[in-house]
Amino acid sequence: MTINATLINILHICHRELWLHAHAIRMEHTSDIVAEGKLLGETSYPQRADKNQELEISAEIFTDKGFVTCTAKIDFFDAIRGVVYETKKSAAKELAHVAQVQFYLYLLRKNNVTAHYGQIEYPKLRQTERVELNEEDEKKIESSILKVIEIISLETCPPTLPKSKCSKCSYFDFCWSGEE
Ligand code: SF4
Repeated sequence: MTINATLINILHICHRELWLHAHAIRMEHTSDIVAEGKLLGETSYPQRADKNQELEISAEIFTDKGFVTCTAKIDFFDAIRGVVYETKKSAAKELAHVAQVQFYLYLLRKNNVTAHYGQIEYPKLRQTERVELNEEDEKKIESSILKVIEIISLETCPPTLPKSKCSKCSYFDFCWSGEE
């Protein structure tokens, strides 16, 4: 089983979405919101690719359940300054964004790559958020890895969230099409 940054992100949004995504039931391609977010990430900082590198990393993490392979693809990493950049559309899922960037920092450090901090940028809001990773955060990441394994190993899909939390989710029709 391989755990990636997307799974860590979704863990902090909805366990049902996590299970569906991990079981290859994908709806992102049907979502205008997802497409808009992707475009924003690709076009907001046109110079960024000149100064930063795209990086694919992985590490074998020892957990209570033995070794787990963890992987991530970082779009923009400034290897000279040791900074990870991540662009997001809205701050509504801030906890998930922070967990994703901390996972990047965690894997970089596991590979003995200098990674001082991350920076989440919300160009539409003209805001940035600095993301640190301390020892306590590392333990939380290791717990999140185990939690992801626990959820995606379930035989059946977890229940829905309250509908009020689902309006912008690409799985909305999948989860709620039978409802009035
Ligand atoms: S629609 Fe709601 S319950 Fe279904 S996956 Fe999305 S957030 Fe989760």
